[in-house]
Amino acid sequence: MAKFISSQKGNRKLVLGDYMYTKKREGSNGKEVWVCETRTCQSIVHTLDDAIVKSSTEHNHAPIHSKVKISEVRLNMKRRAEETEESPRLVFQQSLTQVSLEDAHHLPSRATLTRDICRRRQNAGASGANAEDYGNTINGDRFLRVNQPDMLIFAAQGLLDS
Ligand SMILES: [Zn+2]
Repeated sequence: MAKFISSQKGNRKLVLGDYMYTKKREGSNGKEVWVCETRTCQSIVHTLDDAIVKSSTEHNHAPIHSKVKISEVRLNMKRRAEETEESPRLVFQQSLTQVSLEDAHHLPSRATLTRDICRRRQNAGASGANAEDYGNTINGDRFLRVNQPDMLIFAAQGLLDS
């Protein structure tokens, strides 16, 4: 069954079993043509109204089981950041509970994920007032302040981006 997810960049991806496909082009008669993410692979799928109409799903490589899962977890994390008032730390921890130890191995670093969450929260315009807020350093850099019961974390935007 065809399933679609949104990539980190916001493009749609087709998920078929353990494989992901990116859109190659519009086909004829409103069809869409999808190719396996692995560029050297010949697997190709045609869809029409999100239903698979033609596929050649022989892959020349093993599936990367965790890839689909990781994409879903990251998306879910961002969604929570947007839709809830949970602290980034909580969003992060909750999301990790959905990942097997084996898959967790393939997740980006905690810093990257936390930054994802904070960015998403910022873009969504939620205040997140209790848990953290942004300020400006003396030279005008934005910084993130995270209040934990027993510690205070500061991170300048410049450092987060580096
Ligand atoms: Zn493939």
